[in-house]
Order: sequence, then C-alpha cells, then structure tokens
Amino acid sequence: MKKIVQKEDRVLHKDAKEIPVKDITTPKIQKILKEMSQALKNQSDGVALAAPQIGYSLSIFVVSGKIFHKDFVRGMQEFEKIPENEVPKDLVFINPKISKLSREKEWLPEGCLSVRWLYGKALRSKKAMVTAYDEKGKKFQRGASGLLAQIFQHETDHLKGVLFIDHAKDIREELPQ
Ligand SMILES: [Zn+2]
Repeated sequence: MKKIVQKEDRVLHKDAKEIPVKDITTPKIQKILKEMSQALKNQSDGVALAAPQIGYSLSIFVVSGKIFHKDFVRGMQEFEKIPENEVPKDLVFINPKISKLSREKEWLPEGCLSVRWLYGKALRSKKAMVTAYDEKGKKFQRGASGLLAQIFQHETDHLKGVLFIDHAKDIREELPQ
C-alpha cells in the first residue's frame, strides 16, 4: 500500500506531468491508478486523491465512487456499513483541465489527506466543468456542482502544486478522536 505523503514533501509543490494519451492503457499507468484507488479506499474520510499525494508527479486524480452513493450524506460511519459491491466505482481523471468555473463562489470547509490535521475554509466556484481522459484513454467532459465541483478545484490545484492551506482562511487543527 502506497503511503500518502504530507505537505512538506516536494512532490506536492510542483507541476504534475501530463501523460501521453497512448500511455494511459499501459500496465505502468494502470498500476498507478490501482494504487491510487487503494490508497484512497484506505482513508475513511477521503473523497478524492491526486497522484502526487502518493508520490507520482503525474496529472491524474481519482474521485471515490462513494460520494455518488445515496447514503453518503449520512456521514462516514453509517456509510462504512454498506457492502462494497454497492459502492459505485471510482472516477478517474487523467490530464484534467478545468474548462469552466461559475463566477459565483462560496467559502467551503476543506481538508486534505496530505495536510493532516488542518482544516479551513476555501473560496470555491459553485460549479465547475472538467475535461479529462478516463482510464481507457477516452476523452470526456463532466460538469458538477456541490461537493464534486469543490473536489475538481481542490484536485486540479494539487496538480499545479497548490495546497488548500496556501489560500484558505480560518485554518485550525482538529485531531482525530
Ligand atoms: Zn488534497
């Protein structure tokens, strides 16, 4: 299992490299996608992960399928009782580019698996649109609002070497219980 690197690590502070589209289906990239999903699944409070967070400076992020489950909003503890085969599969975004952001923004509570255990409020557009390639090398576009729009912005920031604490307000530490 790959370890999630923490904020001091240099890989989190540089631009992630794009992947040639023809390389997406290679065993090397497919293995990295698997490692990302495994590392993410291992974090009960994790909803998405960018490749630099497990040490690869590559332009990929993965969104946990659990956020699409109807019971997700009930909170993690309740959610963890759901059988694995009922959890939608993770969404893969390779070479993602934000193609649209709503002008309307809001301050949203935010944390990060690589910034333990700080939390704060980040100013995010309410809606976002991303263009990316999936795990089969197929180009797609996805628009989102709410949590997924926030994830798009947080994760594409990771791929530019930006952490939420670089621009968040009201940052405080909240240790796990
Ligand atoms: Zn993060």
